[in-house]
Amino acid sequence: MTYTPPYNVWTDGKIKVLLDPGHGNDDRGYIDGLYKTEGESNLAFAKKLKSELEKYGIVVGMTRTTLKEDPSLAKRGQMGKGYDLLLSIHTNAFNGTANGTETYDDTNSKFSNKELATLINNTIVKVLGTKDRGVKYWKLSNGKNYFGVLRNNSAINGMLIEHAFHDNKSDVKKWESNQNKLASELAKSLASYYGLTVTTTPSPTTADINIIGKTSLTKYQMLTYCNSKNTAPKLNTNLDNLIDLYIKEGEVEGVDGAVAFVQAMHETGYFKFGGDVDWKQNNYAGIGATGNGAKGNTFSNPQIGVRAQIQHLKAYASTESLKQECVDPRFKYVTRGTSPTIFGLAGTWAADKDYGTKLLSIYNHTKAVETVDNQPIPEEERLKGRVFVTYDNTVDKVQADRMQAQLGYYPVDLNSPNDLVNADYIIHVGGGTSHSADITLTGVNRLETENKVTEFIKKQKGA
Ligand SMILES: [Zn+2]
Repeated sequence: MTYTPPYNVWTDGKIKVLLDPGHGNDDRGYIDGLYKTEGESNLAFAKKLKSELEKYGIVVGMTRTTLKEDPSLAKRGQMGKGYDLLLSIHTNAFNGTANGTETYDDTNSKFSNKELATLINNTIVKVLGTKDRGVKYWKLSNGKNYFGVLRNNSAINGMLIEHAFHDNKSDVKKWESNQNKLASELAKSLASYYGLTVTTTPSPTTADINIIGKTSLTKYQMLTYCNSKNTAPKLNTNLDNLIDLYIKEGEVEGVDGAVAFVQAMHETGYFKFGGDVDWKQNNYAGIGATGNGAKGNTFSNPQIGVRAQIQHLKAYASTESLKQECVDPRFKYVTRGTSPTIFGLAGTWAADKDYGTKLLSIYNHTKAVETVDNQPIPEEERLKGRVFVTYDNTVDKVQADRMQAQLGYYPVDLNSPNDLVNADYIIHVGGGTSHSADITLTGVNRLETENKVTEFIKKQKGA
């Protein structure tokens, strides 16, 4: 079992896991006062899992580290940015007789990872001896994830684990008495998945990238990442046009235009230049710049410069003939087809032994740029849309009704969750289940909840 790319996305090359101990200091209790609340138990287990994961060199973050913290589900999900995996830790409840372990994988195919979810679920079932309820996907009928934390997930993968049912006595015993062993076994499974072993500095297995192929990154990703490194690229055209040229010229010769563009970002220092080649030369890959101040080749315009680089890459990566007239003055000096991947360019195209690693790092950072349609909608915008206020008892309904009267929000009885479809924003008031809410307004008692609602109304009216 291996971790497939995106790999080595982060500059330090480490695997990063964000643990999200569900809830805060609330009253989700275990039966018979047998143990803590769910929020407390989730936190205790997360702390154990954290120290086990760290033994493998995994960087572990936590969405909360104390009992009284209770970040919104939106915030918890967004904290996943920069992590390989967000694991939301929960226990389940139903009617006291239901039991077992289930793992909810992200329903968004971009963030889901069934292989990993299955590995996690199997490990838990094996250690706890619980009933295997399997890996599940829970979508609202608007296509969005039921779970607020996964809906807002910004990690590469996201999943929510219901380890056991905390209203089932037999399940509670299994969960509470095996937490140490579970933490250690779960860490072992995750480490094996990510290719890590104990106490060694994590040595990421090498992912390599083929030079020949279709353009493998989007224009938006290339533009955004390059702009993030240098807002004023020195070019005889604009960056937007230049990327179009990489895509177009790459397609003509069957070279991955993104790989070529990544190489150009590396060679020119994100088009700051400053080395032997001057920006006016339209030479983006140091062709002919052989060191000792040699300025290298000059190309008549950006298109010919890009074309020469694409052709030079093709010379290294394949033995096929060029589709267009050769504009690369050094094409004839290359032994054809010796370096089909970017790692092959180390010691051939460039003397630098780490050339491939450097290109891979830039490539993965570019790939990590979220695509446009995946940009999270800001909270303020969502609050202007259809806002629903959920409650699950008559005491809290009073607050939901207040919010309707004052702000026009739509009150929803949690016993009819289908009403949540098409909500742009979900606010939960009072205690009870709130897995679906973006924020929860709840205090330790009724008065405190009321105060929070008053504060919230005031803020929205002022906004
Ligand atoms: Zn929960």
